[in-house]
Amino acid sequence: MNNTLAILGGSAAVTADATEQYERPVEEEKKAVCELIDQGFLSGSGTGLPKKFEEEFKELVGCKYVLATSHGHTALASAYFAAGLGAGDEFIHPTIGYLGSYAGALHMGATPVFCELDPKTLLADPADIEKRITPKTRVINPVHMCGRVCDMDALLAICEKHNLVLVEDAAHAHGSEWGGIKIGNLGHIAGFSCQGTSPRGKPTAAGEGGIVATNDRELYERALIYCHLHRSGALDELTNPVYKQLEPQLLGWKWRAHPLAVAIARISLKTLPERIEKFIATREELVEKIKGIPGLELAHNYPKSKHAELYGGLKFLYDPDALGGLTAECFCEALNAEGVPMGANCISHIEHLRSIYTQDLPGLWGEGHPGPANIPLPRYQDGDFPVSEGLRGRVLALASWIEPAPGLIDQVATAIRKVVDNYQALL
Ligand SMILES: *Cc1c(COP(=O)(O)O)cnc(C)c1O
Repeated sequence: MNNTLAILGGSAAVTADATEQYERPVEEEKKAVCELIDQGFLSGSGTGLPKKFEEEFKELVGCKYVLATSHGHTALASAYFAAGLGAGDEFIHPTIGYLGSYAGALHMGATPVFCELDPKTLLADPADIEKRITPKTRVINPVHMCGRVCDMDALLAICEKHNLVLVEDAAHAHGSEWGGIKIGNLGHIAGFSCQGTSPRGKPTAAGEGGIVATNDRELYERALIYCHLHRSGALDELTNPVYKQLEPQLLGWKWRAHPLAVAIARISLKTLPERIEKFIATREELVEKIKGIPGLELAHNYPKSKHAELYGGLKFLYDPDALGGLTAECFCEALNAEGVPMGANCISHIEHLRSIYTQDLPGLWGEGHPGPANIPLPRYQDGDFPVSEGLRGRVLALASWIEPAPGLIDQVATAIRKVVDNYQALL
């Protein structure tokens, strides 16, 4: 084999088609959408197809209560209300997280308290979370990033000890499991996203959409009254005597899912178990083939986590020191030239460095208002989260496959070894 790196004029190690070969059942989607159009069923919840989808998601996850919503962030906003979060309360969110994940809490006037990632798992660090708990903390909001499950045992123990509610961001974690139990059936309340198009969108993709899942009747009823104005049968369904006194408008937000989106989500949900199993098999094949390679290792996972990185790709820890200081960008450029779709720029959402926490933005919240619900936002600066900030240039993401073209995984592994073996030519 010609060992000259492709970026230096050699031939690329990957010759197989590197695009995803899995195709979603588009014809089935068209049929389901057209049926709704023919029926004129384009609005509603608690009935018809949206209700059916809720039942199907419940069955997949094994949990007691599910609500289909307009988006993942409205599912999560409903979960924050369900948890009783309000102005002046604090919630904890990983600083490498997502604004949409906690926007609902922010706009209620709750204060974001960020926490570090564990630099090996790249997930919220339970020990760091515990250090940031104050008498005002009410919610912990971990993110199961790329479907990879956070340390649920540690997080639930912390919540129990400090009487907190675990609001899981499960936007990427449809079908992910912890100790054989699916996410949505284990914590207090979880919000899923159905954003994007299968197979690269959220694992159950509907264009736009979201799902609330819980086993707690009270949390379910609170989420329902917050987000499902005019849900069919809502008042009959409610058991809390206080909530039963509301009118069918409940608390006024109408964040239910669009039936056309639900029709597409149902088809995506049907193929989810198959996509997860195929993805895991492909990932294991690749991981086996690049085992022990210097400078590069898969982000660590907890032994109880079973997951597929259907959204966001496979995360790798990159150690430039093992390759003579070669930057992640240069390493990825060389891999890209070989035909490997590896990216270096995946620590992009650093929450505490957003302009709303680092700059004065006069009038943003309304003249004379210091922040949402008149609560000033906390101030943060570069250096406040050294562990998470230190991950910049050390985390790579590989666009990985459900159905790779024949021979592709072997060639990808060969290409990675080729670049690592020849890194000195890149210095
Ligand atoms: C997509 C996403 C959400 C929110 O989902 P939307 O459906 O886009 O509102 C929340 N958290 C994370 C981590 C996401 O990627």
